[in-house]
Amino acid sequence: MPRNKTEERRSREITTLVGHIHRRIDFRYPPFRFEDFLASHDSYKVFEVDLPLGLDGRILFTPDGEQKTIYLRKWNARTRLRFTLAHEIMHAELHFQAGKLQNLAACRTSEHFRDGRRDVLEREADLGAAHLLMPLWMIDRHVPYRIKREYPDSVVKELARLFRVSDTAMRIQLKNYIAHDGEFLAL
Ligand SMILES: [Zn+2]
Repeated sequence: MPRNKTEERRSREITTLVGHIHRRIDFRYPPFRFEDFLASHDSYKVFEVDLPLGLDGRILFTPDGEQKTIYLRKWNARTRLRFTLAHEIMHAELHFQAGKLQNLAACRTSEHFRDGRRDVLEREADLGAAHLLMPLWMIDRHVPYRIKREYPDSVVKELARLFRVSDTAMRIQLKNYIAHDGEFLAL
């Protein structure tokens, strides 16, 4: 959850942008369909390739940003591939236009291989990816009941299956859901 005003504002900007994407592809029921996203965003090309262990994905831009090429590590679990793809899309939608990416590229590495704190762009891309795949308002429609403490594993697993994400990703997003004030507007 955002800790201060700046982070709060940035978090709102990210959810607003994600909301635009959801509206554009008419996302109403889980899971998020990348086929729909890619069909309406034809500047993206996605390839599943042989990347080394620890490198989950990378995105390359043409200098004008017109073409985006995403490479995903094909050996990863499907849920991880989906989250990485969402993460790379967020780099393109959040960071490229704003001129925040160096070398016309960005990548995603496994937690295990990271040294120290993740930088701001990486955290923003993960935050955006979580909202892209698991918007809080949609979680709100599918949770079997509302509680203010952690959901049991059975609920986490069921929702993870529904949204086609890992149990871990769903558990983290459910924490954001629980911490939220409870007004969920589908943008
Ligand atoms: Zn990244």
